[in-house]
Amino acid sequence: MSELVIKDLSAKVEGKQILNGVNLTVKGGEIHALMGPNGAGKSTLGNVLIGHPSYEITGGSVKLDGKELADKTPEERAKAGLFLAFQSPISVAGVKLGTFIRTAYKNVHPEDKIKITEFYNTMKEHMKNLGLDESFIQRAVNDGFSGGERKRVEILQMVMLKPRIVVLDEIDSGLDVDALKLVAAEIKKYYNQDVGFLIITHYQRILKDIEPEFVHILMSGKIIKDGDKALSLRIEEDGYDWIKA
Ligand code: ADP
Ligand code: MG
Repeated sequence: MSELVIKDLSAKVEGKQILNGVNLTVKGGEIHALMGPNGAGKSTLGNVLIGHPSYEITGGSVKLDGKELADKTPEERAKAGLFLAFQSPISVAGVKLGTFIRTAYKNVHPEDKIKITEFYNTMKEHMKNLGLDESFIQRAVNDGFSGGERKRVEILQMVMLKPRIVVLDEIDSGLDVDALKLVAAEIKKYYNQDVGFLIITHYQRILKDIEPEFVHILMSGKIIKDGDKALSLRIEEDGYDWIKA
């Protein structure tokens, strides 16, 4: 079972209330899109879900497979099966990408005794799929990587860490058309009945490749409208003003 249940979630950052009672359930096999104007709180939701230390939950709950996540560390949440691809991934000097992913994997899946060569071979296959050069394995995490390379590396982490609930925060921004195709193909290949997706995006183009069953609009820290693909098309055409009105 994979089920993320967000109930009446409120949160603040830097003393400012950003989320004001978010309700959302994502189950394995489901693809949800989360849209909303700039500053609506979309990234805040992602950061709160994964346990970013700057964000404080002020009410409500987040449960993964029935277990409360709010009091858990980011490591424990990752181990529980949650993954967040950051909107703006940071670089980590001095930590090699390959070592980083390998170490994370061992912590998230301690039961898996996969051989190190096999692990790296799988990583190289996925890098090829994503158009990333193998030499990146030896480079420091995101150090000197372009915006698009960082986004591909987020997806590399996703496929390698094998999470069950995946939050992708604007994975499409900063990717050119060809890179987006590679990334979308890798996401689709990873998708199955045990994996639930929450895809945060502004654009229709990624939703053409990865069709969401559910579309939610976040505004002022609250989901104010739910719908299906038609809703995302309407947003593309008309923006958000008609919802406010
Ligand atoms: P979105 O992703 O929907 O564009 P964000 O969640 O990034 O919106 O931001 C929502 C609001 O929270 C914005 O007003 C933003 O300035 C504020 N905010 C988010 N993160 C921080 C932070 N670390 N420190 C201060 N303010 C923040
Ligand atoms: Mg954002």
